[in-house]
Amino acid sequence: MTAAKLDLAAIIRRVPNFPKPGILFYDISTVLADPVAWRAAVDRMDRLVDAWQPDVLAGIESRGFLFAAALAYRAGRGLVLIRKVGKLPGAVVSHSYDLEYGSDTLQVSEGLVPAAARVVLVDDLIATGGTAKAAVHLLTKVGAEVAGAAFFIELEGLGGIDRLGVPARSLLKLAS
Ligand code: AMP
Repeated sequence: MTAAKLDLAAIIRRVPNFPKPGILFYDISTVLADPVAWRAAVDRMDRLVDAWQPDVLAGIESRGFLFAAALAYRAGRGLVLIRKVGKLPGAVVSHSYDLEYGSDTLQVSEGLVPAAARVVLVDDLIATGGTAKAAVHLLTKVGAEVAGAAFFIELEGLGGIDRLGVPARSLLKLAS
């Protein structure tokens, strides 16, 4: 099988009822562990991202870091990490958002994103879009122009991508 024809969706491991009953977890570890699949995944994601010609990529903790780092290195772009609360040293900018129960906070280091930089957000998977939307808010707060958002997997029927308010694309559309 050549890399161009590789069925990446078939390589992703499905784990039912993780991390809680009723959730079908898409485990990208099987893609990461397969060198041909991982290279194909990054190369195909690069085509989505490159169309927006970003200066900087922003990866969402934690699996988003894997894609964002590989893509930034591949295309010679900067990389910014969007982390969960309490993980970043020094001055941070925060954005809190509502979850089904309670709330959560994303943070980015202050002064790291160049003024008016064109940033593309990267994550492994978009479900409801809550996390990615919060990341878009955070990047906007620090003065970035969010040119787009790219996801390896989009869960179908949840409308996550339409919720972001920025151009967004996904490589694989899978059942939620
Ligand atoms: P959401 O905020 O609902 O779009 O959820 C997206 C975040 O949760 C991403 O960072 C994903 O890594 C993770 N996630 C949500 N649902 C799943 C799933 N079914 N399988 C794997 N990861 C998931």
